[in-house]
Amino acid sequence: DVLEMDGYESLESIGSGSFGLIRKVRRKADGKILARKEIDYRKMTTKEKEQLVAEVNILKDLKHPNIVQFLERVIDREHCFIYILMEYCEGGDLAAVIKRHKESSTPIPEEFIWNIMVQLIMALHECHHGTSVNEETHQVTPRPILHRDLKPDNVFLDGKHNVKLGDFGLSRSLTNPQKAFAQTYVGTPFYMSPELIGEFTYDAKSDIWSLGCVIYELCALQPPFLADTQAQLSARIKEGRVHSLPGNYTQELNQIVKWMLRVDSRKRPTTKELLNDSQIKKVQKGLE
Ligand code: ADP
Ligand code: MG
Repeated sequence: DVLEMDGYESLESIGSGSFGLIRKVRRKADGKILARKEIDYRKMTTKEKEQLVAEVNILKDLKHPNIVQFLERVIDREHCFIYILMEYCEGGDLAAVIKRHKESSTPIPEEFIWNIMVQLIMALHECHHGTSVNEETHQVTPRPILHRDLKPDNVFLDGKHNVKLGDFGLSRSLTNPQKAFAQTYVGTPFYMSPELIGEFTYDAKSDIWSLGCVIYELCALQPPFLADTQAQLSARIKEGRVHSLPGNYTQELNQIVKWMLRVDSRKRPTTKELLNDSQIKKVQKGLE
C-alpha cells in the first residue's frame, strides 16, 4: 500500500534502500518530480534513529550542484514514517552505466569518465573542505564531512549527465574526530582502503581511495581489486598492485587513478591537490 502525504502525489517506487523504499513523487504545488525516501521508524533502534537524525542534519547543510539536494523532512507520527524529500536524479546510477557497458562489451568514453571524475572531486571537496554558517551568529565554521560509502551505486546522474553524489547514509560529520575515528567501517569490501584493514580508521583520504576505485571501475568495467575471500581481498588491497587501465585510456588518466590508489594514504592527493592538477583544471573549465 502506498502512503499518501499532503501536497504530494505518490508515483512509482524507484529503488529500495537499507532503510526503506525510494519513491518518485510529484509536488502538487508546481508539478515538480522529486524522490522520497520512506523510512519506517518503528523497527529502528534508538541508535539508528539518532544516526538518521544525524544524516538528515548533514544533508540539510550540504548544498552543491554535484550533491543530491535535500529538500525537506516530514515526520508522519500516525504511521511511524519519516520521509526525506530530495532532488530526483532521472539518469540512474553509475552502477547501471557500468553494467550496460559490461554487457555490451563497449568501453565508456574517456571524456565522459573525466567529466564524472571532476564532478565527483568537486562534490568531495565540498564535503571535505566546506564550511557551515550559523544562522543566528553568522559564524563560519569548518564542517568536514566524510562520505564513507562512495561506490557506483551511490553516484547518480540527472537528465543532463550532471553527476550527483548521494546516499549519505553512512557519512558522519568529523566535528568530533576521536568519535568519528572510533566508528566501525561498514562499507563495500571491494572498495575498502588499506588503512581500514584491521584498524578502523577512516579519514578524507579513504574517500579519495574509493573515488580511485570508482574511476578505475568505469574504465576497466571491474573493480581494481578482486578476490574470492575477504582475507585474499585484504591482502591484495594492502599490497596495492593495480593493473594498468585498458589500452584505450590515456597515460594521464592512468596516473591520476594510480595517485588516488596509493597504499600510503599520505601519498594520496587531497581534493585541493586534485583540483590543482592541470588536466583536471582543463576539464573543469570545459564544464563551466
Ligand atoms: P541505500 O542507503 O539503501 O543504498 P540509496 O539512497 O542509495 O539507499 O537509494 C537506493 C537506490 O534508490 C539508489 O541506488 C537509486 O537507484 C535510487 N535512488 C535513491 N535516491 C535517488 C534519487 N534522489 N533519485 C533517483 N534515484 C534514487
Ligand atoms: Mg546506496
